[in-house]
Amino acid sequence: MKANPADYDLIGAPNLGAALALMAENPGALLPIAGGTDLMVQFAAGTLASRRLLSIWNLPELRRIDVSADEIRIGAGSTYTDVRRHELIAREFPLLAQAAAWTGGIANQNRGTLGGNIVNASPAADSLPALLAYEAELILASAAGERRVAYVDFHTGYKQMRLEAGELIRSICIPRRFSECVSYTRKIGGRNAQAISKVCVAALGRAAGGAIADVRIALGSVAPIPIRLPATEALLRGKHMDAQLIAAARKAALAETQPIDDIRSTARYRSAVVSNLVAEFLELLAAAPAPHA
Ligand SMILES: Cc1cc2nc3c(=O)[nH]c(=O)nc-3n(C[C@H](O)[C@H](O)[C@H](O)COP(=O)(O)OP(=O)(O)OC[C@H]3O[C@@H](n4cnc5c(N)ncnc54)[C@H](O)[C@@H]3O)c2cc1C
Repeated sequence: MKANPADYDLIGAPNLGAALALMAENPGALLPIAGGTDLMVQFAAGTLASRRLLSIWNLPELRRIDVSADEIRIGAGSTYTDVRRHELIAREFPLLAQAAAWTGGIANQNRGTLGGNIVNASPAADSLPALLAYEAELILASAAGERRVAYVDFHTGYKQMRLEAGELIRSICIPRRFSECVSYTRKIGGRNAQAISKVCVAALGRAAGGAIADVRIALGSVAPIPIRLPATEALLRGKHMDAQLIAAARKAALAETQPIDDIRSTARYRSAVVSNLVAEFLELLAAAPAPHA
């Protein structure tokens, strides 16, 4: 049945404190809506989880990006356009800047937020592999206070996450220690723009003295949640790159992923792509000049 807007309440709040107070006063009853790019699809399908919506769009505390010596703090209400246009993100966090640039079209980038991408929790969400590779942490806020969790621990299963009733994601914090890494990201979809990923990858690495000193590989669309590849990374760390190592990494990556057949692709195709992307990243890493060379 077609959704009727008259059946829904949308309330607003002037700031984050007021929004959190409303959530505390109405436990579990208010569904936060930021850019609405996921929720409006659910609205149109008549599957919204609540008829009472709390707008958190443009709350000043959520729509800011602060840079300190150690980290960047991106408000969860920052849009893809905010992220894409931020000079320091482009320079130090290219995996995230690129993910923002290929998430939907311009209209979607002007409304869709990082916080919404995290909580919508699609296994194919484009910004999440970048957050895994950069070891992002989330600041979660409620009327009772704030807590900080590593993003890698946030999603616990398909659409499952450690977000309590009454909590919002306030910010995404990323340490500023990756500027010497080689960055590699690819989104494999039905076409280059405006496609949901069949597989997406965000990887970072650094070689020192001919050996792999640091390596992080994160993938989307190959498991119920976006994942890092800890066993593959452990296999690579400290080793000298050669064809044998790349072949072993291909195998290790396949053992760590659980791709499925769905409307967008097949498990077989996804596995082949995972193996090829890991190899392509490692070849790029092997060819990169040493930092400050
Ligand atoms: C045409 C189109 C193309 C798209 N293309 C892509 C794509 O290429 N890649 C991709 O990854 N996604 C894509 N998306 C999905 C969507 O744009 C993103 O997931 C976006 O980041 C959602 O953000 P939002 O602010 O619009 O979320 P909303 O729809 O407002 O909310 C989504 C969920 O997040 C919750 N939420 C939002 N903010 C917070 C917060 N701060 N704290 C707690 N909960 C919160 C809401 O309650 C809701 O459950 C596309 C969507 C459309 C409509």
